Amino acid sequence: MPILEFQHVSKVYHNSTKALDDLSFSVEEGEFLSIIGPSGAGKSTILRCINRLIDATEGKIIYDGADVMQVGKGQLRKIRTKTGMIFQHYNLVDRLSVMENVLHGRLGQKSTFTGMIGHYTEAEKEKAFSILSELGLAEQAYKRCDALSGGQKQRVGIARAIMQEPKLILCDEPIASLDPKASKTIMDHLAQINQTRKITCIVNLHQVDVAMKYSNRILGIAAGKVVFNGTPAELTQEKIHAIYQSNDKDLMLDVQGEVI
Ligand code: ADP
Repeated sequence: MPILEFQHVSKVYHNSTKALDDLSFSVEEGEFLSIIGPSGAGKSTILRCINRLIDATEGKIIYDGADVMQVGKGQLRKIRTKTGMIFQHYNLVDRLSVMENVLHGRLGQKSTFTGMIGHYTEAEKEKAFSILSELGLAEQAYKRCDALSGGQKQRVGIARAIMQEPKLILCDEPIASLDPKASKTIMDHLAQINQTRKITCIVNLHQVDVAMKYSNRILGIAAGKVVFNGTPAELTQEKIHAIYQSNDKDLMLDVQGEVI
């Protein structure tokens, strides 16, 4: 039973850009799916349609049994609560502590009032600290986020997502701003969460080799269409060329990047 299904989804932005073009795919519960493709292919648009940060123009998105484009406010809130998001630029509140940022992961489960006054239970604080320890950030827990390195900030982003107890984590270019060592740490943590917590992960990636190393399945997107949907073993050089729409050998090297 898929946790997520895109059925003939299209997205046209206000300026008439067609970002998604009759796109269909599904994701099974527990999968680690990478989405690869050139810049502007529509990867980020796909993720943002799932929890309605933007609205798709046509088609159907079924997520955990709900028709995402038809749900009311209450159900949309539920959808957002069970969906963690990890961004290239972390999206943390820099002037707040690491703990406070992680506790923000609970906001979706609280009333507006208790969320606003920043009231968290001892159990929630203990849970936040335990997640931070798991991610190797116990010593950073009470530091301000702006004192951290990029790799540490991204681990805080992951901790905040776990704090939500999500069914699905969407990662939009999570390692694009990080060096190879920090990138490996982040990808290893995502793989670990996927395997031990059984959280489905969808990860937009720039690096084909990283997608091949970590994914159960890879979706190749070009110009808003699915051009590849298969296992890493099925992703041949020819298919990579088709996704990146180039016969240029240099581009091949470029998109493969550094093996981490
Ligand atoms: P990717 O994540 O693969 O780089 P995006 O989903 O960001 O691709 O973008 C797909 C297409 O939609 C691109 O042509 C991009 O310029 C366009 N696009 C993205 N966001 C907007 C927006 N808010 N308004 C108009 N066009 C957009």
